[in-house]
Amino acid sequence: MPVADVMVRRTRTYAGTVTQPPGIPARGATRLATSRTLPLEVSDLGTFDDLVDLVSGGGVVVLSGAGLSTESGIPDYRGPDGTRRVEPMTYGEFAGSSEARRRYWARSYIGWQRFNAAAPNTGHRRVTQLQRAGFVGPVITQNVDGLHQAAGARDVIELHGSLDRAVCLTCGEVTSRIGLHERMTQGNPGFMDRFAAAAEAVGSQWGEQVRPDGDIVLADDLVETFHPPRCLVCGHDTVKPDVVFFGESVPREVVERCFSLVEQARALLVLGSSLAVMSGYRFVRRAHREGVPVAIVTRSATRGDAEASLRLHAPLGDTLDALVEALHVEP
Ligand SMILES: [Zn+2]
Repeated sequence: MPVADVMVRRTRTYAGTVTQPPGIPARGATRLATSRTLPLEVSDLGTFDDLVDLVSGGGVVVLSGAGLSTESGIPDYRGPDGTRRVEPMTYGEFAGSSEARRRYWARSYIGWQRFNAAAPNTGHRRVTQLQRAGFVGPVITQNVDGLHQAAGARDVIELHGSLDRAVCLTCGEVTSRIGLHERMTQGNPGFMDRFAAAAEAVGSQWGEQVRPDGDIVLADDLVETFHPPRCLVCGHDTVKPDVVFFGESVPREVVERCFSLVEQARALLVLGSSLAVMSGYRFVRRAHREGVPVAIVTRSATRGDAEASLRLHAPLGDTLDALVEALHVEP
């Protein structure tokens, strides 16, 4: 959507409402009028100009989620209504059986190829520009796709780890995902062809099934033919992607570092996260508690709406485009 359309829609949405200065808590009246006709914008609070004002002061810490990467072709776990579309494998399942690990790696072997080919989008690039111009400081991301770094951002804290690496649960050996992928290719000749044939037989577009963690839906009979990777050091089949699974905790030192960054920030800008999981939501709560203004830009309702002083339900790429322009940031 061109920026002009975003501006027009904003004007229409906010016509007649009182402009909400950053840092001032929500008042209920602004959310009522348009709820039936514009469901995605029902809980918007504040205006794009408020966002410009907030970011223009600098000292902004960004918290990004899956919504920032959807424009790179990596789908969100959750639909626009915030409900979960797929059930990811939990840590307990993965650690609990060789069969689960075989299933995970078979699906991930297929899914990661598309995942790995994803490139940063406008949103990632604009965040980097804002950082280089001094408006944005560290970037805390819930994404495991490495796209902030690929877009040139620095000080990126990967809350949930990265799919670039894998670690052995038995001996702790860390290995690169690319090397692991090559080993899986050597250990599973013809697997990709068998998968492609099976997908074609059911008329499936496999690339459309890839999940935010590179996982994919795969038939059981195919999974049974897959040889999962073994650790090169200890030989066990306990190699795990170095990402935080559901049912697992973000490392304590990472959490503490992020709390510290949020407390020292002038503002927390949430981009494309539904804040449905506590791993990200807790930073919004901490910011709110410490009097640090929270701004949220996303396409869906979020769990942190009550703590936000500014909420815009708008496309991220276009909004960040407009923000960079409004702040006169050089490309
Ligand atoms: Zn090992």
